Amino acid sequence: MDPVALARDLLRCPSVTPAEGGALGLIAHVLEGAGFTVHRVTFAEPGTAPVENLYARIGTMGPHLVFAGHTDVVPPGEEAKWSHPPFAGEIVEGTLYGRGAVDMKGAVACALAATLDHLAARGDEPEGSISFLITGDEESIAVNGTVKLLQWAAERGEKFDHCILGEPSNAAQIGDTIKVGRRGSLNGTLVITGKQGHVAYPERADNPVRGLVTLMSALMAVPLDHGSAQFSASNLEFTSIDIGNPVVNLIPGEARARFNIRFNDCHSQVSLKTLIESRAADAARGRVRWHIDWEPSNADSFVAEPGAFVDLVSAAIKEVTGTAPALSTTGGTSDARFIKTYCPVLEFGLVGQTMHQVDERTALADLAMLTDIYRNILGRYFA
Ligand SMILES: [Zn+2]
Repeated sequence: MDPVALARDLLRCPSVTPAEGGALGLIAHVLEGAGFTVHRVTFAEPGTAPVENLYARIGTMGPHLVFAGHTDVVPPGEEAKWSHPPFAGEIVEGTLYGRGAVDMKGAVACALAATLDHLAARGDEPEGSISFLITGDEESIAVNGTVKLLQWAAERGEKFDHCILGEPSNAAQIGDTIKVGRRGSLNGTLVITGKQGHVAYPERADNPVRGLVTLMSALMAVPLDHGSAQFSASNLEFTSIDIGNPVVNLIPGEARARFNIRFNDCHSQVSLKTLIESRAADAARGRVRWHIDWEPSNADSFVAEPGAFVDLVSAAIKEVTGTAPALSTTGGTSDARFIKTYCPVLEFGLVGQTMHQVDERTALADLAMLTDIYRNILGRYFA
């Protein structure tokens, strides 16, 4: 099956989170036609927009391979800046343009095409089970999407053996990279409390800026670790200093600095907080009044164990492209952080270069090659 027409139809669905835009309806139609049992489930909670999701399965036996992904997209931004309208699915000189072309409607289309080919070659009967777990809530706050869809599936008794998440994992060309893990992410605000006063009488005040500079310097001075077998070093980055003092003759009473930490498997959130707070306490030496407000995070680091599944996918890629992929843990977080609780997951999709950009696009040749690779994976998985 040609993935191009399918990708193009998906790109024409304006599914900016939380809008479904017709994208899941289209996928449901394709999968029902191929014999899948399709469920469309809407999740909601107070204060958030309800979001549609889709789960479809064919087969009742193991092994059970699930393709995960999302059909929601980030907004196009200023449409006038696009060479081709973001929701038109225009093809020009072998390139398909549109919001979601690589992140990640293109890969969803390739997985659908490969699966339909695989089933047709098998006389429409899978050797095990194939599922699609497609959410409409990945690009925004990700609360009414994969997290709840996985819980819903587990309550129905669904058990997955392996998952391929079709995020744009490749850096420069199809097949160069599989993402086998992700760093965790944690946000905090360092708060220094001083005493407000007239700038001409500093002895009567306690300027929190001094303490802020001291603690920030200390937290930036020493690396959090030196990396691990599959991860680069964890990193703390201050992103904002907030004092909000509009006048020149006032020593402020409080100073804040926000930071983000991308962390590897040397740490848990708890151990990381302990480490940061002990470094801050050492630097404060009892003279700076400080505390850290930590934001809740659902993004722990994780890594897929090297083994048969990673080897199988690597071999399938190498057979199609001629080159073995690199195994990487770089980049931001993804829904893989939720899936990993249920089954081993790796990420392999299109080339990420234009994701979230004006003129997001993919070469038609890349769609063909990714479909080949997914077909090859299915062939090996159910051999
Ligand atoms: Zn994505």
